[in-house]
Amino acid sequence: SDNHYSCIGCGVQIQSELPNEIGYAPLSTLEKENIICQRCFRLKNYNEIQDVSLTDDDFLKILHGIGESEGLIVKIVDIFDFNGSWISGIQRFVGGNPVLLVGNKVDILPKSVKQQKLIQWMKREAKEQGLNPIDVCLVSSARGKGIREVAEQIDELRNGQNVYVVGCTNVGKSTFINRMIKEVTGEKDVITTSHYPGTTLDLIEIPLDDGTALYDTPGIINHHQMAHYIDKNDLKLLTPKKEIKPKVFQLNERQTLFFGGLARFDYVSGGRTSLTCYIPNEIMIHRTKLENADDLYEKHAGELLNPPRKDDLDHFPELIPHEFMVKEAKTDIVFSGLGWVTINEPGKKVTAYAPKGVNVTIRKSLI
Ligand code: GDP
Repeated sequence: SDNHYSCIGCGVQIQSELPNEIGYAPLSTLEKENIICQRCFRLKNYNEIQDVSLTDDDFLKILHGIGESEGLIVKIVDIFDFNGSWISGIQRFVGGNPVLLVGNKVDILPKSVKQQKLIQWMKREAKEQGLNPIDVCLVSSARGKGIREVAEQIDELRNGQNVYVVGCTNVGKSTFINRMIKEVTGEKDVITTSHYPGTTLDLIEIPLDDGTALYDTPGIINHHQMAHYIDKNDLKLLTPKKEIKPKVFQLNERQTLFFGGLARFDYVSGGRTSLTCYIPNEIMIHRTKLENADDLYEKHAGELLNPPRKDDLDHFPELIPHEFMVKEAKTDIVFSGLGWVTINEPGKKVTAYAPKGVNVTIRKSLI
């Protein structure tokens, strides 16, 4: 067994079976004197962070360890998957440490979305989850937008202490950290070798200028993420590279929209009306009569209605209905991990279907 090896970088226990999980090192490297896990190896040699995942228990252990240290916690969420990328319970574990909430992937937002409204919404949602962030900011790690500002803010908020970056898989945590490394260190090499003092937290250390450090934590798999239910090749449909183009539909009562086979929106009653869909451009929207919708899904999920792919249907959760009575003009129905539909007029009854476990919520429009 590999049990007696640990990484000279982060101290994690080495394993050679699961490349995407923490502590992986190829079998061929185990004969070396100083064994280093792949995550540390890449940071050391390529200045690049690679995300690895952890079980829930191990992740809680890490959070607990952070709670016992002092520092700034930077929590990354995907603004298109706020609920799906939320790590619940974090507020209990971080102790008295301040949390900076960073919403990633702002480049996908249509220009018409008011970022201040999105920030207000994130603050309210965070509060509802029991978290009171010291601030909320928006970035695009892919494009580098907002990164310098966040780097400066982090530097101010951390008060000379360490920084711990947490986030669940797919939020763009490694993209974010890799940008930060470039921003903070410029062209300098980041060499990480020292153990986290005291315990082994499986954290990767990225030294900052003044003797403190930024720590990358492994990601946690959040089973509420839509992303887990579709083929890896289709993930890029959910994480588009381009700004979303809103699509307007004039609907009569009892008409249905399908977003690929991932979600469904029934316009139940309220007279003819217009809706705006903020769904990644590559996801096809199919319109049908409500009375034909069940049948269409049954027959065409995995084909006309994709993603999911036919091969993934067995693992794809059933679509669960969520009913809403929309009382105010300009209301969003949000499908976590997919996008949202803005209902422009009040007094409409709708039913939104999402895969079991995936959240559907209602909010005041961000436009
Ligand atoms: P991690 O699992 O949290 O480390 O996530 P990754 O950094 O691997 O990113 C997950 C996916 O999101 C990848 O396909 C990235 O290209 C994409 N991504 C990350 N940051 C951004 C961003 O700011 N904008 C967009 N459009 N995509 C992003």
